[in-house]
Amino acid sequence: NHQVLLVEKPTGKLGPEHFKLSEGQIPEPKDGEALLRVRYISLDAANRAWMHGATYRAAVEANTVMAGGGIAEVVSSKSPALKPGDIVFGDTGWQNYAAVPAKHLNKMPSMEPMTHLLSVYGIAGLTAYFGLLDVGKPKAGETVVVSAAAGSVGSIVGQIAKIKGCRVIGIAGGKDKCDWLTGELGFDAAVDYKDGAVFKALKAAAPGGIDVYFDNVGGDILEACLAQMNLNGRIACCGAISQYDGAPSATGPRGVPGLIVVKRLIMQGFIVMDYMNQREKALADLQSWVAAGKLKVQEDVIDGLENTPQALIGLLAGENRGKRMVKV
Ligand code: NDP
Repeated sequence: NHQVLLVEKPTGKLGPEHFKLSEGQIPEPKDGEALLRVRYISLDAANRAWMHGATYRAAVEANTVMAGGGIAEVVSSKSPALKPGDIVFGDTGWQNYAAVPAKHLNKMPSMEPMTHLLSVYGIAGLTAYFGLLDVGKPKAGETVVVSAAAGSVGSIVGQIAKIKGCRVIGIAGGKDKCDWLTGELGFDAAVDYKDGAVFKALKAAAPGGIDVYFDNVGGDILEACLAQMNLNGRIACCGAISQYDGAPSATGPRGVPGLIVVKRLIMQGFIVMDYMNQREKALADLQSWVAAGKLKVQEDVIDGLENTPQALIGLLAGENRGKRMVKV
């Protein structure tokens, strides 16, 4: 059983030295558990955030198999809920085989391509769907801004906002990503945050102000958006990737709480897991939009378990377009 261990928790930037490839036993499932063969491992910005300490889940610890979500096939089962051949999603960790309690696994439909279970029909798609529609509450004609817009969550947020009749502006790093957002995904405008002042570029792209900001990054970009929010605007706080990878903790954003008060803003955090009881409705909508060609699915699949550390390091550096995952 090939495994990737986190050997040390980074204090600064995450690097390959924090991981080690190792060889372990194929685990024996206990009562209530299933033995899984991992097929695809999801790379998530949150993987890095878990190294800071406990959040909505326990912290990942040094000298253990690196935690992470994955799509896996049941090899054998000591739970009546699962049988060999079933496809599941769960925290498999970065390894070939895992024994996981069935109650911590979600049974998934079998589908081609299987990768869609991690992208549009997985956590990324559901996060975009519920964060935008339930927290952001966009109305047709409103202006929606999304950061990390070319990433897995952001690229879906922007497209759903277009489906809902909004004007959509994406913030992403680099001209190529920005051209892709406007040229391929139908965003109305894109701002390259690596090319000069975000505030000014955003002002030009959204002269009428922002009604909904879907925040994946926090920090300076949140500050620039806050100042341009319209009265009664909504900010959906999805994540803060600018703070995850060893960057000094930001002192801002400035304008909090002043701007929130004066503009009567609603700023709300959410965790996608809280919406799992409404999953079926979301999946039905996402499937219909994909079938109608209104929602394009972008995936970035890297081969080989041994490349998982570099895949995460690269995701934090903005290498990916759409949903990044590793094929085991
Ligand atoms: P993505 O696929 O969006 O990849 C992360 C992207 O973030 C990179 O491609 C990079 O693109 C961008 N980025 C990296 N550093 C910075 C920075 N300093 N400033 C601005 N952009 C940066 O990853 P995920 O889909 O895994 O995560 C997106 C967000 O969603 C994260 O904040 C994550 O924590 C959150 N999330 C929240 C959930 C919830 O339930 N609340 C569930 C799932 C995810 P670029 O080239 O543009 O810099």
